[in-house]
Amino acid sequence: MKTHNIPTIIFWILSCVILAYVACFWIIQGGHYSRMDPERSNTAQCIINIRNMQAAVRVYQSENGLQPGSPLSIDELINKEIISNYPSCPDGQSYLCDNVIPKEDYPYLRCLNPKHNEFDHKNW
Ligand SMILES: [Zn+2]
Repeated sequence: MKTHNIPTIIFWILSCVILAYVACFWIIQGGHYSRMDPERSNTAQCIINIRNMQAAVRVYQSENGLQPGSPLSIDELINKEIISNYPSCPDGQSYLCDNVIPKEDYPYLRCLNPKHNEFDHKNW
Protein backbone atom coordinates (compact mmCIF):
# COMPACT_ATOMS: atom_id res chain seq x y z
CA MET A 1 0.00 0.00 0.00
CA LYS A 2 1.29 3.40 -0.99
CA THR A 3 1.64 5.91 1.83
CA HIS A 4 0.91 9.61 1.36
CA ASN A 5 3.77 11.93 2.07
CA ILE A 6 3.38 15.18 4.01
CA PRO A 7 3.39 17.63 1.01
CA THR A 8 0.59 15.64 -0.65
CA ILE A 9 -1.54 15.80 2.51
CA ILE A 10 -0.91 19.54 2.85
CA PHE A 11 -1.84 20.01 -0.80
CA TRP A 12 -5.20 18.28 -0.29
CA ILE A 13 -5.97 20.15 2.91
CA LEU A 14 -5.18 23.48 1.25
CA SER A 15 -7.29 22.53 -1.77
CA CYS A 16 -10.25 21.76 0.48
CA VAL A 17 -9.83 25.05 2.37
CA ILE A 18 -9.65 27.08 -0.87
CA LEU A 19 -12.64 25.23 -2.30
CA ALA A 20 -14.65 25.88 0.86
CA TYR A 21 -13.67 29.58 0.75
CA VAL A 22 -14.68 29.92 -2.92
CA ALA A 23 -17.96 28.13 -2.22
CA CYS A 24 -18.76 30.45 0.70
CA PHE A 25 -17.88 33.53 -1.35
CA TRP A 26 -20.02 32.32 -4.26
CA ILE A 27 -23.01 31.66 -1.98
CA ILE A 28 -22.70 35.04 -0.23
CA GLN A 29 -22.32 36.96 -3.50
CA GLY A 30 -25.12 35.01 -5.17
CA GLY A 31 -27.47 35.75 -2.29
CA HIS A 32 -26.48 39.39 -2.32
CA TYR A 33 -27.13 39.88 -6.04
CA SER A 34 -30.36 37.92 -6.04
CA ARG A 35 -31.75 40.28 -3.38
CA MET A 36 -30.74 43.43 -5.26
CA ASP A 37 -33.54 44.96 -7.29
CA PRO A 38 -31.93 46.90 -10.18
CA GLU A 39 -34.82 49.37 -10.37
CA ARG A 40 -34.59 50.26 -6.68
CA SER A 41 -30.83 50.42 -6.90
CA ASN A 42 -30.98 52.82 -9.87
CA THR A 43 -33.60 54.95 -8.12
CA ALA A 44 -31.41 55.19 -5.03
CA GLN A 45 -28.34 56.13 -7.08
CA CYS A 46 -30.29 58.74 -9.02
CA ILE A 47 -31.59 60.34 -5.82
CA ILE A 48 -28.01 60.44 -4.51
CA ASN A 49 -26.98 62.24 -7.73
CA ILE A 50 -29.77 64.79 -7.31
CA ARG A 51 -28.91 65.29 -3.63
CA ASN A 52 -25.19 65.69 -4.32
CA MET A 53 -25.93 68.26 -7.00
CA GLN A 54 -28.22 70.09 -4.57
CA ALA A 55 -25.43 70.21 -2.01
CA ALA A 56 -23.04 71.59 -4.66
CA VAL A 57 -25.56 74.27 -5.62
CA ARG A 58 -26.07 75.33 -1.99
CA VAL A 59 -22.29 75.50 -1.47
CA TYR A 60 -21.93 77.73 -4.54
CA GLN A 61 -24.90 79.86 -3.46
CA SER A 62 -23.49 80.31 0.03
CA GLU A 63 -19.92 81.06 -1.11
CA ASN A 64 -21.15 83.72 -3.52
CA GLY A 65 -24.00 85.15 -1.45
CA LEU A 66 -26.54 84.46 -4.20
CA GLN A 67 -30.33 84.52 -3.97
CA PRO A 68 -32.73 81.90 -5.37
CA GLY A 69 -33.43 82.65 -9.02
CA SER A 70 -29.83 83.68 -9.73
CA PRO A 71 -28.50 82.00 -12.87
CA LEU A 72 -26.35 78.94 -12.29
CA SER A 73 -25.37 76.37 -14.89
CA ILE A 74 -23.86 72.94 -14.31
CA ASP A 75 -20.88 74.13 -16.40
CA GLU A 76 -20.23 76.85 -13.83
CA LEU A 77 -20.15 74.27 -11.00
CA ILE A 78 -17.67 72.19 -13.02
CA ASN A 79 -15.53 75.23 -13.89
CA LYS A 80 -15.36 76.20 -10.21
CA GLU A 81 -14.48 72.56 -9.39
CA ILE A 82 -17.41 72.17 -7.00
CA ILE A 83 -18.40 69.05 -8.98
CA SER A 84 -16.16 67.05 -11.29
CA ASN A 85 -18.53 66.07 -14.08
CA TYR A 86 -22.10 66.01 -15.34
CA PRO A 87 -24.40 63.81 -13.28
CA SER A 88 -25.95 60.92 -15.18
CA CYS A 89 -28.96 58.87 -14.19
CA PRO A 90 -28.15 55.15 -13.96
CA ASP A 91 -31.30 54.47 -16.03
CA GLY A 92 -29.89 56.57 -18.87
CA GLN A 93 -32.54 59.25 -18.32
CA SER A 94 -31.73 62.92 -18.72
CA TYR A 95 -31.91 65.48 -15.98
CA LEU A 96 -33.98 68.62 -16.21
CA CYS A 97 -32.33 71.74 -14.90
CA ASP A 98 -33.65 75.30 -14.86
CA ASN A 99 -30.11 76.71 -14.62
CA VAL A 100 -31.08 78.92 -11.68
CA ILE A 101 -30.52 78.56 -7.95
CA PRO A 102 -33.73 76.97 -6.68
CA LYS A 103 -35.97 78.25 -3.90
CA GLU A 104 -35.83 76.46 -0.58
CA ASP A 105 -37.42 72.96 -0.74
CA TYR A 106 -36.93 72.73 -4.52
CA PRO A 107 -34.37 70.48 -6.18
CA TYR A 108 -31.96 71.95 -8.72
CA LEU A 109 -32.19 68.79 -10.85
CA ARG A 110 -35.15 66.62 -11.71
CA CYS A 111 -34.94 63.25 -13.42
CA LEU A 112 -37.09 62.48 -16.47
CA ASN A 113 -38.02 59.19 -14.78
CA PRO A 114 -40.86 60.36 -12.49
CA LYS A 115 -40.16 57.57 -9.98
CA HIS A 116 -36.73 59.07 -9.38
CA ASN A 117 -38.27 62.32 -8.18
CA GLU A 118 -40.50 60.75 -5.55
CA PHE A 119 -38.53 61.68 -2.47
CA ASP A 120 -38.77 64.19 0.29
CA HIS A 121 -36.77 67.32 -0.54
CA LYS A 122 -38.04 69.49 2.27
CA ASN A 123 -35.37 71.88 3.58
CA TRP A 124 -33.35 71.48 0.37
ZN1 LIG B 1 -33.01 59.10 -12.69
